[in-house]
Amino acid sequence: MQKHEQKLLMGLLVCPICKGSLTRVQASDELICYPCELAFPIVDDIPRMLPEHARQISLEEKLDR
Ligand SMILES: [Zn+2]
Repeated sequence: MQKHEQKLLMGLLVCPICKGSLTRVQASDELICYPCELAFPIVDDIPRMLPEHARQISLEEKLDR
């Protein structure tokens, strides 16, 4: 797959739990779903969208949106 195609795919990604839109956080390279309070890691430009890979975001991160 070409790199620009992966980037396009990224724009279509939604939260696997609530199907809501995700916010890309450049600093930590994560995709955050604020309603679910989960952050999904991006490894080698590929988002890991499995709930078991997600981490719970802190209250500070939630307020920092
Ligand atoms: Zn969600």
